[in-house]
Amino acid sequence: MNRITGKTKLLGVIGDPIEHSLSPIMHNAAIAQMQIDFAYVPFHIRPEDLNTAIAGFRAIDLRGFSVTIPHKQTIMPLLSEITDVARAIGAVNTVWNSDRGWCGTNTDIVGFMAPIRERDWKSSIALILGNGGAARAVVAGCNQLGFAEIHVVGRNAEKIQEFARSWSLDSLSVHTWEQLSEFLPRADLVVNTTPIGMSPNSDQSPLTEEQANLIKPNAIAYDLIYVPNPTKFLQQAQQREIEAIDGLEMLVQQGAAALEIWTEQTVPDVVMRRSLRVHLGFE
Ligand code: NAP
Repeated sequence: MNRITGKTKLLGVIGDPIEHSLSPIMHNAAIAQMQIDFAYVPFHIRPEDLNTAIAGFRAIDLRGFSVTIPHKQTIMPLLSEITDVARAIGAVNTVWNSDRGWCGTNTDIVGFMAPIRERDWKSSIALILGNGGAARAVVAGCNQLGFAEIHVVGRNAEKIQEFARSWSLDSLSVHTWEQLSEFLPRADLVVNTTPIGMSPNSDQSPLTEEQANLIKPNAIAYDLIYVPNPTKFLQQAQQREIEAIDGLEMLVQQGAAALEIWTEQTVPDVVMRRSLRVHLGFE
């Protein structure tokens, strides 16, 4: 437990709801390990209170904060500066206090790329299931990693067209869910960004058994969901000895990237990962 003093600097996370957030667990574990005088606390901020909260944060000299649902887009007009990456994604998940005012970025892209960035993805094909907020970070990440083709599959024809229009990427194309089986056998990376299979719906997968059998043996299955671990989707992949990556590492690495911005120090991601695994009962 950190000892809070008169000099302790505050960090936090805003969301509505916020009780479920795992961020205080991993950030405070890292802060304790780093032996720095910071504390990271949850703030339950309702949408109608966002403006007031941000003004108040400046008054109390909050050093920075994480942003979760439903504020990731609505916070953007309230910030003085937004990084190009957050603009491309269309959402901010990390804010810090500077001389110029509040600055925002998005570290989900760094988090997503972390477990797969050492490989060469040039001339590879990515297939992304879902077209929500997290899918935007995944598209930006796949683009940065150099994928030749990025295919996004969504259930709502209108929404996926709108999604396509919001990017100017030659490598990106969007498809309806009915076309999924066409692209599965071609994909080198299949990413689930839908909440299908998330606890308590642990018996669900975005893919039927027949669809799961279409994934290439040397492909990677990546699920952004971190509870349960593994998800049904990842179990389907593992049954065929296909490499499976769960969402915990993305969660850890997006948090580590944020803490590095706030503290300007190297962050012990090992401690953050361990604290979450223990908290979630994985070890
Ligand atoms: P979101 O903005 O609500 O997007 C969810 C997407 O899934 C939407 O495109 C939605 O389709 C689609 N979808 C939902 N139910 C579906 C179904 N039954 N069939 C087909 N498509 C369906 O949510 P998000 O913020 O992107 O989060 C998505 C998931 O990623 C959540 O499980 C979240 O926990 C996880 N996540 C993990 C991390 C991490 O660090 N590991 C970070 C962010 C998110 P419509 O657009 O048609 O509604």
